[in-house]
Amino acid sequence: MIDTSTSDTPIFVPKDFKTLFTKPCAFDERMSNEWHQEWFTGTGISPAEHPLARQIAFSACGNCGSNDVLVIAAQWCVSYHSGDAYWDYEIECRLCGKYTKASFCEND
Ligand SMILES: [Zn+2]
Repeated sequence: MIDTSTSDTPIFVPKDFKTLFTKPCAFDERMSNEWHQEWFTGTGISPAEHPLARQIAFSACGNCGSNDVLVIAAQWCVSYHSGDAYWDYEIECRLCGKYTKASFCEND
C-alpha cells in the first residue's frame, strides 16, 4: 500500500533545498545507506524525467490534485531478503506550493 501525506514544508530534504542543492536531481550519497536505498534529491525535476520514473508511480499533488509537480526527493530499493520493493518520494506542487510525500512497501 501507499502512504501519502501533505505538508507545508518538505520532510525528506531541508527547508533550504532550493539553495542547498545545485542540480534538479542528483544521486545523494549522504542519504543513501546500508539498506541499499539509493536516494536522489535536488531542486526539483518533472516526474517523467526522473531517473526512477520506471520504478516509481509518481502521483499528482495530494493537496490540490495538480500534475504540475516537481520531484525533490526519491529512493527505490529491493530487499535482498524478501525481494520486496520499497520506495519513497516527495514532490513539490507548483500550483499550491504544498509538499506531498509518499511511501510504498510491496509486502504491506
Ligand atoms: Zn497542489
